[in-house]
Amino acid sequence: MTHNTMINQTQNAQGALTLKCPSCQKIVFWNDDYPFRPFCSDRCRLIDLGEWASENHRIAGEPAKPFSDFDEN
Ligand SMILES: [Zn+2]
Repeated sequence: MTHNTMINQTQNAQGALTLKCPSCQKIVFWNDDYPFRPFCSDRCRLIDLGEWASENHRIAGEPAKPFSDFDEN
């Protein structure tokens, strides 16, 4: 019984979305193999949540304005 599942190879160019786990920087594929994406694992997810809880994710200023309001003087 051979189960020839197509395993994603590192094909970034072809719409295979990859990203880095915010906790450990490991490459994560955006597919069902990674139910905890953007984290690589449940553990990393919890680590990140823990940081939220403890540090409250203090956001360092720098308000990013997508629409810059120029003064048109
Ligand atoms: Zn991770």
